Amino acid sequence: METNFLDKLLADARPLAFKGQVANYIPLLGLADPQKLGLCVAEPDGALISSGDWQERFSIQSISKILVFTLSLIDSGFDKVLEKVSIESTDDAFNSIVNLETKNNHRPLNPLINAGAIVCLTLIDGKNMHEKFTRVLEFTRLLARNSSIEVDEDIYLSEKATAARNRALTYYMLSTGAIEGDVEAILDAYFRICSMMVTCADLARIALVYAQGGAGFFPKEIARTVKAAMCVCGMYDESGQVAVEVGLPTKSGVGGGLLSVAPNRFGIGIYGPALTDKGSSVAGLEVLKKLSKELDLSIF
Ligand code: GLU
Repeated sequence: METNFLDKLLADARPLAFKGQVANYIPLLGLADPQKLGLCVAEPDGALISSGDWQERFSIQSISKILVFTLSLIDSGFDKVLEKVSIESTDDAFNSIVNLETKNNHRPLNPLINAGAIVCLTLIDGKNMHEKFTRVLEFTRLLARNSSIEVDEDIYLSEKATAARNRALTYYMLSTGAIEGDVEAILDAYFRICSMMVTCADLARIALVYAQGGAGFFPKEIARTVKAAMCVCGMYDESGQVAVEVGLPTKSGVGGGLLSVAPNRFGIGIYGPALTDKGSSVAGLEVLKKLSKELDLSIF
């Protein structure tokens, strides 16, 4: 794959950023430059092909949910995790509470919405929430092959200070028995995980691990399950459209990142902080659609 090809994809998609808006419900995310756009593709031998603002650092946000889900399966096993959270799509927003009351016997519908990720986080090994957080950080560094990934303290504090909705849904889950323990400590770990700073290269390398069936880091069965969940619900209430238009397991984050897996082929990382109203990168999705089309990557 040529760098020129990626440069052209970015140049064509960059103008679309005006259609979106940077997330500002977490105040510090509102400072991002909406025009930024970067792309990195990790090839099977680990070589990276990059273009645009691929070296920009941004908070991983909900892309971390695939790592949390993976670790919960590794540490607690399928039966225990799937007893607490199912893998069904939702047509509600990522931080919706309504289904916890009305559907699925109080179990979050899937591990890639906030409620489900918070449940999975409690199922990761660790004597306390700080140890569970550290396990996620170390795992992220391992898969990204980047030991310098750190939490941005300011973004973490910004989310912590404005997290009424996440607090509400987590306390709600405590009341129904969906989770146990100290809600503030659980949320603290969740906010820290969302505030891990990554680049497109980190996301591409992580995606490559899933593209290669776990690449020896975890069993193929887990990689397969996480990819299936990404197809069904990785893009929240636009997962169906992304399945049709991109056709790859993909996860978005409100920091502007997109992680996409081309099984047995590539790992893809994209950054573009201007978001659709569903919370995913507008220009980034356009890049992904074109990349998938040009290289015939859709798994369907
Ligand atoms: N930290 C964000 C939240 O909980 C993550 C949302 C996302 O990236 O989609 O609201």
